[in-house]
Amino acid sequence: MLRINDILDKAQAYLTAEELEMIQKAYIYSATVHQGQVRLSGEPYLTHPMEVAGILVDMKLDSATIISGLLHDTIEDTLTTKEQIEREFGKDVSFLVSGLTKLSRISFGSQEERQAENFRKMILAMSSDIRILMVRLADRIHNMRTLQYQKPDRRVYIARETMDVYAPLANRLGINWMKMELEDMAFQYLSPDAYNEIKSRVAKSYESRNLYTEEVKNIIFQELVKVSIQGEVEGRAKHLYGIYRKMHEQHIDFDEVYDVIAFRIILDSEKEKTCYEALSIVHALWKPVPGRFKDYIAMPKANNYQSLHTAVIGPHGERVEIQIRTRAMHEWAEKGIAAHWRYKEGRAFQDDEDSQIKKLREALEVQKDIKNPKEFMSNLKMALFPEDVYVFTPHGDVKTFPRGATPIDFAYSIHTDVGNQCIGAKVNRNIVPLRYHLQNGDQIEIITQAGHHPSKDWLKYVVTSRAISKIRNWINLEEKNSSQTLGRDLLDKEFKRNNLKFSTCVKSDEMKKILVEHSLPTVEDLISQVGYGRISPRQIVNSFLVTAEAPKGSEKLPEKTRKKAAAPSLGISLTGIDDVMVKFAINWDLRQKHAYPVHIKVVCNDRKGVLTEVSSVITSFDINISFAQVETTDMIANCMFIIDVNDLQQLNSIFSAIRQLKVVRSIERIRKA
Ligand code: MN
Repeated sequence: MLRINDILDKAQAYLTAEELEMIQKAYIYSATVHQGQVRLSGEPYLTHPMEVAGILVDMKLDSATIISGLLHDTIEDTLTTKEQIEREFGKDVSFLVSGLTKLSRISFGSQEERQAENFRKMILAMSSDIRILMVRLADRIHNMRTLQYQKPDRRVYIARETMDVYAPLANRLGINWMKMELEDMAFQYLSPDAYNEIKSRVAKSYESRNLYTEEVKNIIFQELVKVSIQGEVEGRAKHLYGIYRKMHEQHIDFDEVYDVIAFRIILDSEKEKTCYEALSIVHALWKPVPGRFKDYIAMPKANNYQSLHTAVIGPHGERVEIQIRTRAMHEWAEKGIAAHWRYKEGRAFQDDEDSQIKKLREALEVQKDIKNPKEFMSNLKMALFPEDVYVFTPHGDVKTFPRGATPIDFAYSIHTDVGNQCIGAKVNRNIVPLRYHLQNGDQIEIITQAGHHPSKDWLKYVVTSRAISKIRNWINLEEKNSSQTLGRDLLDKEFKRNNLKFSTCVKSDEMKKILVEHSLPTVEDLISQVGYGRISPRQIVNSFLVTAEAPKGSEKLPEKTRKKAAAPSLGISLTGIDDVMVKFAINWDLRQKHAYPVHIKVVCNDRKGVLTEVSSVITSFDINISFAQVETTDMIANCMFIIDVNDLQQLNSIFSAIRQLKVVRSIERIRKA
């Protein structure tokens, strides 16, 4: 069992005395709060945080990270609060530990490969500080090392999660040893037969392989010495899962995996040029296998890995895989992002380090500017996907949303009906308002009710285009429906007031003309337009009123007058209602030879149908209206008419009839200059 002194011994190589004291304090704290707890192995629980801290100190990570390793399960598994941690160990540590607590609460329910990438992104997004992820990975390493104490189904579940989620994350950070160890441990539980087979074959061939390895190493080393290139040559069996994957991907047998041993030339020189020189020596020594050379120095991998890879036909006609790299490249290849940690104290920032960080930063899509290495590790925000949040469905699937998304967005992403009928939401089993902003790792459950409908307000709370368009669709449809109802109602009333029946008029030719005039395809559209208030029901009724009476008058209309009647100056202009001109066939009675035009102004309350109401009173005297106009302002409708009257007596009768109308406020004759 690891002891605190082992950790402190390692830490004192690179940490200050105050930092060591803090680590010691964290150890005592952890021991106190975890007291009495045991692991499945039967060991005291404390062994776990100790082992995790041990892995972190081996990686030479900073004191806050090691302390967080010691405390990583305290909030989750003991009565400790974030506030207590902050009081005892400061903001930095409490931030890391509470981040770790959040991470420990999510688990990858879905075992689908396509979901694994989303889950990885979620973990990255939740690891707002890269150190959270480092501790999480160390935690996973130790849990995998002690996986045999779990129940069989849990073992497979955790192993699958490790293989699909955590090993790729270690790889993304470039921490090769961690990736390999996680893969091999997961492999052991996921495919025990294949694992044992490969393990025993590697062991069986160990002796002969060892001899062979020494032979190849020596040949290469001697050649390098001849040209004064300094460095070391390594030959090691690949990790078991690496061999398995190769067999699987290339459909070959174990014996055909020639490069079970990976050779590596690590040069003392820090010059890239030396790597290419070493390469030319290897290629001069043995024939290269065509198509196997890869230049990861000129073009590093996404995790910033740099090396030259080649395969050659070796001394016994077998294929040999060789990697060539400088020591700094090697450091990076093995330790990845953790390799940088050790530079954080004291040392000046080198240009090549700067560019390495830049590359890594690009690879990780981190946005924060890095000014110095000290800031690099402590402030590196793993804002990998800053625009996105990752949440779980009740089935454990991961869904991605833009930041600011709400449960309504989530509901529409499931199904349009779920969205439309959404009445509430639960996040991690607690009811939240529909305007709640989804957070990384939330598990969302939507509460629906049949017959429930979206509200216009929802448009304020949604950010996904899907939700926006679905809500708009629904509102448009709804408005169309209600405008139909309203429009029909208005038209029915207006027609009735004029002793007409709208349903009868619908089929008339006049209606067809009206539709053409308004460029509307159907009567339903006309009804909607009335409902929306874009066309007044009066306009439509007027057309019918006039045509209904027109035959009588126009028959008697002489040719000359008819032309005059069609003149554009004659018509009803309805200002204020889109300036629509309604043609007004003229009801001109030629028998009234002495008719003369009179301008009148009728002031009414602005109500639907006032113009029609006044007009119908005038026409009831069997006289002609040659001009009518209504202007509406502040609830007042000013109706202007030019009517053709026979005499003053008739005009007075008309005036008193109009005054009878409830809507009329005043009436006057206007003398035109
Ligand atoms: Mn743990």
